[in-house]
Amino acid sequence: MRKAADTAQTLAGDIRAAGLKSTSQRVAVLAALQQAPHSSADAVLVSVRSTLPNISAQAVYGILSAFTEAGLARRVEPAGSPALYEARVGDNHHHLVCIRCGAIKDVDCVIGQAPCLTPDDDSGFTVLAAEVTFSGICSTCAQQAETSAR
Ligand SMILES: [Zn+2]
Ligand SMILES: [Zn+2]
Repeated sequence: MRKAADTAQTLAGDIRAAGLKSTSQRVAVLAALQQAPHSSADAVLVSVRSTLPNISAQAVYGILSAFTEAGLARRVEPAGSPALYEARVGDNHHHLVCIRCGAIKDVDCVIGQAPCLTPDDDSGFTVLAAEVTFSGICSTCAQQAETSAR
């Protein structure tokens, strides 16, 4: 296991590699995203405040959008849910979203190379990526429904 200090350095390196200045606030936001993928901006704020109690919501939102623009974070927007952020980027993975509890799981691309879907009519586009959200009912919710039906 990596020590905390090593991890912070690795994160700082990732931030610089994306062309951003590394600050303790940015490192804390990236750490929060790695610990809890698919977090809303507010969840990231709560998590970052455990180490940096004085950070403003504005600062966290600003960092999340800078990360998204720089390709360090990905923004996922499932229907009916606030935008979620994750640090797993560049692999064209997809998501399964539970319509009952909002649980979200990563799905690796079925074929492995982006895009794994071919549009029926690409309208002359050169397709670079495809994003699929599978919505359904997670196993926990399905079990609960089954238990309460008895
Ligand atoms: Zn569920
Ligand atoms: Zn994901």
